[in-house]
Amino acid sequence: MTLTDQSAQRPEPTPDPGPGLLACRGLRKSFAGRPVLDGLDLDVAEHEVVALIGASGSGKSTLLRCLNLLEEIDDGTIHLDGEHITDPRIDPDLVRRRIGIVFQSYNLFPHLRVLENITLAPLRVHRRDRAEAEAQARELLDRVGLAEHAQAYPDRLSGGQQQRVAIVRALVNSPRLMLLDEVTSALDPELVGEVLSLIRDLKADGMTMVLATHEMGFAREVADRICFLDGGRVIEQGPPERVLGEPTEPRTRQFLRRII
Ligand code: ADP
Ligand code: MG
Repeated sequence: MTLTDQSAQRPEPTPDPGPGLLACRGLRKSFAGRPVLDGLDLDVAEHEVVALIGASGSGKSTLLRCLNLLEEIDDGTIHLDGEHITDPRIDPDLVRRRIGIVFQSYNLFPHLRVLENITLAPLRVHRRDRAEAEAQARELLDRVGLAEHAQAYPDRLSGGQQQRVAIVRALVNSPRLMLLDEVTSALDPELVGEVLSLIRDLKADGMTMVLATHEMGFAREVADRICFLDGGRVIEQGPPERVLGEPTEPRTRQFLRRII
């Protein structure tokens, strides 16, 4: 995004970012000329849990990656806590410290022990104090029931345990916002529950979350709001009962008919 040059020429004034924890305005992202995000707006209030639903390829993962600055947007703005984080002068590492992300495949480093996996970024990227980062990592491992695995290598853990470690790794910088991308999709069915249970605990703690999911039952239970993505935008959103039970957009109805 070449914000400094182009924003001066943009016809509309910069949109009001709103009072929420996260405010996205007019996000655009294309791959090879094909728009995936096409003027997407999204607001997330503090402590809110927002579930992104939509067909495969509708841009859920791309949106989450853009929010964490892992993908550069072509146009639009993202504000976090009122700060314009897509300003090119912003240090992406400082933003990522405030936004944790967890992927479908846990992406733990196989050659590093659980504790080292969790403290790698805090020590190497964020230059945090080792004793403090390790103490926090151990406390979080304890909270998710994995304290005794701190010195284990990832391949000694089940998929559900590895994904819980990945969630702890995203929590260790005390982020303002957690992004969860289909975090149970790669798990055997009997391991899904322990990860969903951890997400429920995070919600109970008041963690603000945006999660992409195919699990409509879980979305209905945990989300305060469901956003249906289609054509690169949020075309319908509202409380889970309303969006899943009485969708007003034909495309939402069509999507739900196919998957439920
Ligand atoms: P979802 O998570 O909703 O399934 P994605 O965000 O993964 O959707 O993908 C949206 C579209 O963007 C898909 O057509 C996908 O092939 C394309 N896409 C995503 N990432 C890339 C990339 N790095 N390069 C090229 N195309 C991509
Ligand atoms: Mg995806």
